[in-house]
Amino acid sequence: MPKKAVYPGSFDPMTFGHLDIIERVAPMFDELIVLVAQSHSKSYLFSAEERAQLVRDSLPKGLKVKVDLFDGLTVDYAKKASAQFIIRGLRAMSDFENEFAMANMNKSLNAKIETLVVFTKPEYSHIASRMVKEVAHHGGDLSQMVPDVVVAAVAKKLKRGKSI
Ligand code: ADP
Repeated sequence: MPKKAVYPGSFDPMTFGHLDIIERVAPMFDELIVLVAQSHSKSYLFSAEERAQLVRDSLPKGLKVKVDLFDGLTVDYAKKASAQFIIRGLRAMSDFENEFAMANMNKSLNAKIETLVVFTKPEYSHIASRMVKEVAHHGGDLSQMVPDVVVAAVAKKLKRGKSI
C-alpha cells in the first residue's frame, strides 16, 4: 500500500516554517497532500483558493506534493484519500498542548491514522502566520519569514484595504 500523509493547516499565509516541514517530510512518503483548511468558524486574510495557490507557488520545482482544500475533519479526508498519517509541525512548548489534544482527538475519531509531529528548524521556530500578518500590518519586512510570492500577495491584499 502506498505510504500517504496529509499535512493540514490554515496556511494563512504559507511561511518558511511550513515550507521547511513540507520539504523535509515529502521525500518520506509516496504522496504528501498539503490540506488547506476552510473552517467556517475562522476568519482568514486569504480565501482558501488563494492560500492553496500560494502553497503551490511556494513549492520548489520538482517537489511532488499535492495541494487540496477541505472543510471537514482531517481524519475523514485522510480516510477517503487512503492516507495513514497526519503531519503536524511543532515550534515550541506552547504548541504542544494544542497539538497533543488534536492528535488524541484524531486518534479517538480514527485509531488507524497516526499523527506524526515534526520539530521546526530552530531558525523558523518564531515564525507563525498570525505573527506574519501582525508584522505586515505594521509595515515590517516579511522577506525572512515567507516566500517572495507571499510577500507580494500580502502587500497586494493590504493595499486593497483588507484588514488583518
Ligand atoms: P493551524 O491553523 O491548523 O494551526 P497553521 O497554518 O497555523 O494551521 O499550521 C499548520 C501546521 O504547521 C501546524 O502543525 C503548525 O504547528 C505548523 N507550523 C506552523 N508554523 C510553523 C513553523 N514555523 N515551523 C514548523 N511548523 C509550523
